[in-house]
Amino acid sequence: MAETWLNETMYADWGQRFRTSRELARVRSEFQDIAIFDTTTHGRVMTLDGVVQITEGDEFVYQEMLTHVPLLAHGAAANVLIIGAGDGGVLRRVLMHKGVQRAVMVEIDGEVIRLSKEYLPKIGGDAWNDPRAEVIVGDGIDYVKTAPDGAFDVIIVDSTDPIGVGEVLFTDEFYKNAARILSAQGIIVNQCGVPFMQADELRETSARRAQFFSHVSAYVAAVPTYVGGYMTLGWAGKHPASTALSVEDIAKRAENARILGTTSYWSPHIHVASFWLPPYIARHLPR
Ligand code: SAM
Repeated sequence: MAETWLNETMYADWGQRFRTSRELARVRSEFQDIAIFDTTTHGRVMTLDGVVQITEGDEFVYQEMLTHVPLLAHGAAANVLIIGAGDGGVLRRVLMHKGVQRAVMVEIDGEVIRLSKEYLPKIGGDAWNDPRAEVIVGDGIDYVKTAPDGAFDVIIVDSTDPIGVGEVLFTDEFYKNAARILSAQGIIVNQCGVPFMQADELRETSARRAQFFSHVSAYVAAVPTYVGGYMTLGWAGKHPASTALSVEDIAKRAENARILGTTSYWSPHIHVASFWLPPYIARHLPR
């Protein structure tokens, strides 16, 4: 049998490849090329327009950090808005938090949700049927423009990069409305790329957020298949205290939320340490 490889097309001059054993799905949706493969090293892998979005092997790193950090930093998040995240992994982890009463997920591409349920069932798990979940197929920018003031405690943006359909989620208009629909202690986080290769993404979006939020920062996670070293998760909040919590504070909150002991990457120490940025990353944040 001929060897088959999945070669990621994220960067023109550099990249990763996966030996694949089977192509499970390939769909051209209204918005993007969706493909799902069985690989010999990372389990099932989904790409959008040739770019790795998620692998069963390492999704826990990114999804735990994108979810548990803002929710535990807030400390009393009841209403959570998720934008993108069509694989369902962020939704599942948000609903693990005992205090969450409502989780609204707005994903632009219904085909990503359909194929994720069919070929990546473990990632979303039962979250799709949880009565606290509200899943909307629509554009995140339209949702934030029409949602009521102060409706959410935390917004998690798990989108594609700022090209194509994802571009609108990195604009002034998006952040202005995000600030409007967040409550007084509100926090927004988003995937902000791998600064070794995508420093502009972190610098530009942080500068944009600083126009609408008093407290702008970033934290890091080492995601094996987001190649290029640390992945940054952009942070903007209305209250500086949410990033000044001790390891003990975070551990207490995680225990109360029934998260402690359920994770493979996130821990109270990793949480606090992830905001201590190497200079090559910190220099891209607003002074
Ligand atoms: N973790 C991945 C990453 O960092 O590259 C992202 C995974 S998730 C599958 C990205 C999702 O964002 C995709 O399903 C895509 O359809 C969705 N998306 C892109 N632009 C969007 C928009 N404007 N509104 C809502 N969802 C959007």
